[in-house]
Amino acid sequence: MSDKFVYTFGDGKAEGRADMKLLLGGKGANLAEMSNLGIPVPAGFTISTEVCSDFYNNDGKYNEKVVQQVENGVRHIEQIMGAKFGDNKNPLLVSVRSGAPASMPGMMDTVLNLGLNDDTIKGIIEKSGNERFGWDSYRRFIQMYGDVVMEMKPESKEEEDPFEEIIQEMKEKNGIKLDTDLTAEDLKELVMLFKQAIKKRTGKEFPTDPWEQLWGAISAVFRSWNNPRALTYRKLNSIPADWGTAVNVQSMVYGNMGDDCATGVAFTRDPATGVKKFYGEYLVNAQGEDVVAGTRTPQPVDTSTKTSDDQVTLESLMPEAYQELTRIYQTLEKHYRDMQDIEFTIQKGKLWMLQTRNGKRTAEAAVRIAVEMVEEGLIDEETAIMRVQPEQIDQLLHPKFDPSAKKKVIAKGLPASPGAATGRIVFHADDAEEWADRGEQVILVRIETSPEDIGGMNVAQGILTSRGGMTSHAAVVARGMGTCCVAGCSDLNISYKNKTISVNGVSLKEGDWISLDGSRGEVIEGKVPTVTPELSGNFGKIMTWADKVRKLKVRTNADTPHDSEVARNFGAEGIGLCRTEHMFFEGDRIKAVREMILANDEAGRRKALAKLLPYQKDDFYGIFKAMHDLPVTIRTLDPPLHEFLPNDEKSQQEMATEMGVSLQEVQQKVDSLHELNPMLGHRGCRLGITYPEITEMQARAIIEAACQLTKEGVKVYPEIMIPLVGTKAELANQKVLVKRVAEEVQKEFGVKVDYLVGTMIEIPRAALTADEVAEEAEFFSFGTNDLTQMAFGYSRDDAGKFLREYMDRGILPEDPFQVLDQTGVGQLVEIAVKKGRETRPDLKIGICGEHGGEPKSVAFCHRAGMNYVSCSPYRVPIARLAAAQEAIRTR
Ligand code: ADP
Ligand code: MG
Ligand code: MG
Repeated sequence: MSDKFVYTFGDGKAEGRADMKLLLGGKGANLAEMSNLGIPVPAGFTISTEVCSDFYNNDGKYNEKVVQQVENGVRHIEQIMGAKFGDNKNPLLVSVRSGAPASMPGMMDTVLNLGLNDDTIKGIIEKSGNERFGWDSYRRFIQMYGDVVMEMKPESKEEEDPFEEIIQEMKEKNGIKLDTDLTAEDLKELVMLFKQAIKKRTGKEFPTDPWEQLWGAISAVFRSWNNPRALTYRKLNSIPADWGTAVNVQSMVYGNMGDDCATGVAFTRDPATGVKKFYGEYLVNAQGEDVVAGTRTPQPVDTSTKTSDDQVTLESLMPEAYQELTRIYQTLEKHYRDMQDIEFTIQKGKLWMLQTRNGKRTAEAAVRIAVEMVEEGLIDEETAIMRVQPEQIDQLLHPKFDPSAKKKVIAKGLPASPGAATGRIVFHADDAEEWADRGEQVILVRIETSPEDIGGMNVAQGILTSRGGMTSHAAVVARGMGTCCVAGCSDLNISYKNKTISVNGVSLKEGDWISLDGSRGEVIEGKVPTVTPELSGNFGKIMTWADKVRKLKVRTNADTPHDSEVARNFGAEGIGLCRTEHMFFEGDRIKAVREMILANDEAGRRKALAKLLPYQKDDFYGIFKAMHDLPVTIRTLDPPLHEFLPNDEKSQQEMATEMGVSLQEVQQKVDSLHELNPMLGHRGCRLGITYPEITEMQARAIIEAACQLTKEGVKVYPEIMIPLVGTKAELANQKVLVKRVAEEVQKEFGVKVDYLVGTMIEIPRAALTADEVAEEAEFFSFGTNDLTQMAFGYSRDDAGKFLREYMDRGILPEDPFQVLDQTGVGQLVEIAVKKGRETRPDLKIGICGEHGGEPKSVAFCHRAGMNYVSCSPYRVPIARLAAAQEAIRTR
């Protein structure tokens, strides 16, 4: 660690740079970068993230060097700004802002106007000649400092913010609506009332010494790194806890000095659609978070984003500042070669930039911006591929509301985050979590959201608020999460107390169904049916580019011709897993299956299986045809037989009647099939070995379908996969059967079929002895669901009881059934790949567990040298993109 803890910026120079995010946080690094670019940024300094770690290691104490460097930092600001911290003639006020290496919007708090007390306020008023401005700044400072540093935040969800309550009372008393209508006298009184409230609640005086204020705020920022909302956000976004946050201390500029002042936020392109237009909102005579707080309605910056005539754009109101802003945002976009999310303040007509960062965006916008930036020559195709998050494109693949469906639109709000959502109304974030835990689909309805609501927002299908604009907390967070959101729907009358919404004559209560169209901003009563989206245009371009660079093939897990077709449209290059048992339940088949199970001898079983054969053949025929020219891996029967029998007496009686046997006979069979550990019991190849006639029938069905299609001129590539193999001999046993039947059938049809016999690697022993298994296996497919289950010794069906707690306590970083455990299970995979290829250098290897569509696991499969991944149809494009990104990363 070096001895430098503080990095200054301002006046066209800076000690930091954009690539120092880990040390200076994103905000600090970009403030430095803007300064270096000659963009007007109020002077300031950044205390590095190293100090955050120190802070935690030393019980919240700072070493002398840090203290000295902070003091020097303040001197640096004083020099540039020509004002003095704590002076009562010409006082310098600062903001104290958090800034972590990864953007954590709204996760930590900012204190503005720091340095004010009953003396310095006089200087501020005198210098500005604006009494109202002085007191407005002071009351804001006390309010923010009270919240952030002195823990005046509401403690329960029913409680109002104590300061807002006081403001509300005053407004009611004086009969006014807007904050801007409060007079200097009102604000002065608020300052006094706020201080009293703090004294009453905390027993402490509000600190008057600016230096004490400064250190209090700095420490609060460091402490906020570990507050519950920051912890939740970090967990959701896999941000390491040891990064820490930086602190920025910066000279204030004032957007609340009068009507020639303003503050605003903007995106250099539309973050919802990606359309190339300057997309911003601002408020005149306002400060800080006023724009996103939703107390006043912000106005559009640019005329092109105006939505109604009564709006006043910044373009028309302050043309010079607007011109300057336009020049700067274009510079920034060119410099960073990415869409920027910027914050600015205008003080007496002069523009100041307060923040820039790569803007969060919806999947639709990410794709469009990436493609258009390639066309504009700003970035190359590979950069474009890296700009789209694989998980995010899920949003594009999922259904939208059926345009022909009848919809009863009961209100309109802002289209804050696109998509379609249907769910039941809940009013509190923790209720949302509780309901979602029970498996309910919920829509979280709030007057406005705050960072505390993050957990509930994450589980909700959609989010609806009655207050706030396109850059409100709800809107920004929902877009980041890819959750549909309608914001600022001011017609809604929401009562938290009665848990009701009333709107335009309709009244709804907790638990009622509503639907949200986040692309149109519509709120719809009841449920609405959905349709599948198109996959062409910009999305198609990105996918074509991805296909050019990726090395992994992507197949799908599909059991029906329909799923196969869906997957093919998504770009699947074959089927990696077709589970035959799902087919056993349809229509009359289950009857034949049960007849086979009830049969007392082989002859009886063969008779029943003969009835099943034509059905299975039909199934395979349909799937092969849908997947013509591409390989199709079919797994022979896997689950234990008891899964095909009913377990309650009523259904057992029905079955007995239908089969013409006694209830006892059925019950005896059920009892005899009962197992203590069915997942480790009589299933997989163990079934095919003890009942060879089952494997024979399935092999016949597969090869007959293949022969028939071959005769019809359709190219088919069946890959017959034997499940749950633990020893070479098990596979050898089944392979002999399959080959024998296949030879017979090909002779009968007089055609040759190109088929393979291989195995799943899903038992640790098979992985460890893969060199032996590969003597028989013509391909491997990792069944990572079972492999994870057996490597950890967690029953997949029971792990739900403790996995959540394991993750909460940090015992497991992630659910290993969702994200492949590369350290443990991954070793088994690597061993099996290596040993398998020692025996058969050209062994075809893939993965067919749930992990095959999870980006981090796909990346692992690429590095492990697999030939393909296989995943559910909707995840195919995600896997294609993830595979391309890993190919680029590891080049
Ligand atoms: P967040 O990380 O939540 O975006 P910021 O540190 O960016 O918090 O602060 C929020 C807002 O406070 C900024 O967008 C800006 O409007 C205002 N602000 C912060 N620092 C200053 C400053 N030095 N002068 C004027 N306004 C400021
Ligand atoms: Mg900000
Ligand atoms: Mg399995």
